[in-house]
Amino acid sequence: MNRTRFAPAPTGFLHLGHVANAIVVWGLAAQEGADVLFRIEDHDRIRSRPEYDAALREDLAWLGFASDEGPVRQADDPAPYEAAIERLRSDGRVYGCTCSRATFDAWERERGQPWAGPGCPGGCRELDLDGPTLRVALGAGSERWMDLLVGPCADDVAPAGDPPIRDRDANWTYLLCVVVDDLRQGVDLVVRGRDLLSSTPAQIRLARLLGREMPPAFAHHRLVRDPEGRKLSKSSGDTGVRELRAAGQSADQVIASAAAAIGYEGDPNIGRRPIERPAIGETHTR
Ligand SMILES: [Zn+2]
Repeated sequence: MNRTRFAPAPTGFLHLGHVANAIVVWGLAAQEGADVLFRIEDHDRIRSRPEYDAALREDLAWLGFASDEGPVRQADDPAPYEAAIERLRSDGRVYGCTCSRATFDAWERERGQPWAGPGCPGGCRELDLDGPTLRVALGAGSERWMDLLVGPCADDVAPAGDPPIRDRDANWTYLLCVVVDDLRQGVDLVVRGRDLLSSTPAQIRLARLLGREMPPAFAHHRLVRDPEGRKLSKSSGDTGVRELRAAGQSADQVIASAAAAIGYEGDPNIGRRPIERPAIGETHTR
């Protein structure tokens, strides 16, 4: 394998979940002899903030993780996403959709089960609409892959309907950006948390529709959970890297906590830069 990526969104501060991901990304990269690309996933122009962008770069450096390439940002150039949509459109796979979350909820209330399978509840593909949402018709069936950390996996590509590739606010979606970027940037190893396991079949299928013959290898690691057992979504008091730093924890301690939280069995320091420590007897004064 040649290249993997560390790809946070600048919509919040780094927390232990990101640290755990970095440990596995750099660990597998070292094991496989792959480079690490640092990609800042700022496709959501409303939630992405420059101050988060700056903070996550600083925190990553403090933790001792250095990328081989990057950072690259999705918002810098819309052309690759527009080109991908045009390609899908010329294949008749893109359609405008007026269904909202409420449309899906109403379907479920009336029928006692959620919308399932390709398409959308409004049958929008047949209506020739402009939007606001754009969906991609992925087709039926499933995809299978051998996950490096989970084992053999297989699942439907569109279990909850055709996924959006552009949202109601005209942002390219995570699905579109991640597939286009992994393809054009030569990423052949995708390392991420198990919350994204279920989106993998759609990504494999979409990549194939965009001309990718060989999907990347996938490695889905365990998630860091809060005391109630939920996945961490935002940094909060005891899980934010900034808060842990402010409380006097060292980078080594933060790395150790994140590795323990996901039961990481390898050496969590393998991909980190050596931390310079004063020689024995050397005094450190400011
Ligand atoms: Zn619809």
